[in-house]
Amino acid sequence: DLELSALDPDVHAAVVAELHRQQSTLEMIASENFAPSAVMAAQGSVLTNKYAEGYPGRRYYGGCEHVDVIEQLAIDRVKALFGAEAANVQPHSGAQANAAAMFALLNPGDTILGLDLAHGGHLTHGMRINYSGKLYDVVPYHVRESDLHVDMEEVERLAREHRPKMIVAGWSAYSRHLDFAEFRRIADLVGAYLLVDMAHFAGLVAAGLHPNPVPFADVVTTTTHKTLGGPRGGVILSKAELAKKINSAVFPGQQGGPLEHVIAAKAVAFKVAATEEFRERQQRTLDGARVLAGRLMADDVQEAGISVLTGGTQVHLVLVDLRNSSLDGQQAEDRLDRIGITVNRNAVPFDPRPPMVSSGLRIGTPALATRGFGTTEFREVADIIATALTRDLTDELAGELRDRVETLAAKFPLYPRLNGGLSW
Ligand code: PLP
Repeated sequence: DLELSALDPDVHAAVVAELHRQQSTLEMIASENFAPSAVMAAQGSVLTNKYAEGYPGRRYYGGCEHVDVIEQLAIDRVKALFGAEAANVQPHSGAQANAAAMFALLNPGDTILGLDLAHGGHLTHGMRINYSGKLYDVVPYHVRESDLHVDMEEVERLAREHRPKMIVAGWSAYSRHLDFAEFRRIADLVGAYLLVDMAHFAGLVAAGLHPNPVPFADVVTTTTHKTLGGPRGGVILSKAELAKKINSAVFPGQQGGPLEHVIAAKAVAFKVAATEEFRERQQRTLDGARVLAGRLMADDVQEAGISVLTGGTQVHLVLVDLRNSSLDGQQAEDRLDRIGITVNRNAVPFDPRPPMVSSGLRIGTPALATRGFGTTEFREVADIIATALTRDLTDELAGELRDRVETLAAKFPLYPRLNGGLSW
């Protein structure tokens, strides 16, 4: 039974290189985070060996007494965290959670309303070549051109006109709170299910720093690895009366054996998410995003034709608007990459540039807040980003900014106990 470095030096070397990349750069992809060592330990455990088709107490395999304890802990904790009546912790990912929730409540050909991908929606909310766009009749809603907020009047008009069976509320690139009560009212007007996909903002909800969709929605889906800071995976929360349908849509409807090692890691993450330390971290996440938005709306940045969509943020990310800048999204992403800051380019609503290039950047603060960043450090990062995007990025300036990035990274060592190894 060899160690990874001995058995497979190639994979080992790439994993170690990735550890060093994470340690030495500033991770600002809004959907990413750093899972705590305890989550990693649970996920890297012997639970990976176990088949457990079914649910706690009702399995199709023997030897499930310990994984039953673990899965029940995960269920109980996530229900308590969000105030949900029922929970399914088996979806392998956020996309799987959405697929199962839709599979449970819809038939192929049914109509759904979802936020247009180009306006901040997710692939699973009805993109043409995603399963959601292929199986369901999708009517996209949009943000208003005037203030780039979701246009609830359009949602109501489209709902009355198309009588959808489900309205999907949620986003991958949007910086405002959604009005869940208004979505509920519109869903009730036409007898539609309301599914809220809180993948991005679930950590903020858990901390009480964002409105909770659970009281308003029939079903709430989430990932566990974004603001929530756990292992990669998905969860479905629902009203008690839908639990049976949802459970059978996940297994056997969509999946086979659950990933009990990931479910154990989810249970650990839910325990962490109920702590005061987690709440404080989410507060720093929000404060950091506000600091960043403020800096990117300052005069020197505006003069370079760069601004912030919706004029600020209420969540963990900032959407940079490059429509009036000579830099496109790809060039801006490359500039930040060059100085050690990782972000992703993103189409903005009404984007004149093609999606592969795009006119936006999505910059998030969750991973750096997990690393320990507070307002002082976020001010410094914000200034580094503003400088990189507005000045001529000569080799000399790039070197200077890269040094400032490395100083920040060194101030908050990531996974210090790992010491280049892989053992948690
Ligand atoms: N839902 C939303 C709103 C997302 O932003 C994402 C991920 O980007 C997902 C679902 C899908 O999650 P996963 O990548 O785990 O399938």
